[in-house]
Amino acid sequence: MDESDISFFKDGLRLDGRRADQLRPIKIEVGVLARADGSCYIEMGGNKVIAAVYGPREVHPRHLQEITRAIVRYRYNMASFSVEERKRPGPDRRSHELSKVSREALEPVILTSFFPRSVIDVFVEVLQADAGTRTAGINAAAVALADAGIPMKSMISSCAAGKVEDTIVLDPMKEEDNFGQADLPIAMTPNGDITLMQMDGNLTPDEFHGAVEMAMKGARDIYELQRKALVDKYSKMVEKTGQEEVHACD
Ligand code: ADP
Repeated sequence: MDESDISFFKDGLRLDGRRADQLRPIKIEVGVLARADGSCYIEMGGNKVIAAVYGPREVHPRHLQEITRAIVRYRYNMASFSVEERKRPGPDRRSHELSKVSREALEPVILTSFFPRSVIDVFVEVLQADAGTRTAGINAAAVALADAGIPMKSMISSCAAGKVEDTIVLDPMKEEDNFGQADLPIAMTPNGDITLMQMDGNLTPDEFHGAVEMAMKGARDIYELQRKALVDKYSKMVEKTGQEEVHACD
């Protein structure tokens, strides 16, 4: 099957009923793992991804230590049951590449100089994949880092734009990603500083600018949801602590 076998639009809407510039539904939960220092579960359309952060903690093996800053490690892993046909478990070229670019997307905002000789470990597990797992993983990891109390200059939000039937679309799902003409994931700070940009496929210069604009708008909307998820969790904790204090005074 190739792109010409698929009709990506019906009555101006996409296969899943979205407009060209619409994100898939997003759900973000903070602090879902009791044993991690910080964690986040995210659903972006059909993607289900969990991120766990540990640290800052001692580096093993010790020769990896940096005397002036913490190192950041990021492991992206796709569960064998996350895709239609069972994926062979364990790391592969793709997971190495995604781990590297995702780490580089987050590292610029982490204040690593606060924690010399230590490591911040980020684990991202893809439980269900439907295109855009690297962006979902980065969004979850950024929230998990904040949940772990890691000092950061800002949040990082990530979103892709793609091209199908010569139309630029936001947040491509699997059919659009696999059979479309281009895919352009980005990650950025709320100020619009881009920390990740990748592209495959073909875009004209105008389409490229349109796709970047669209992905940035998507990332801005995702930032609001990340922020809200963190505020919700911590305001609930403050409320609970307040109630406990009242009971203690009773
Ligand atoms: P991303 O998930 O960040 O978009 P890719 O563009 O490499 O990364 O992958 C697009 C989608 O293709 C994935 O989200 C997943 O649905 C599917 N996919 C990737 N790798 C595999 C694999 N080994 N087996 C089956 N499907 C895969």
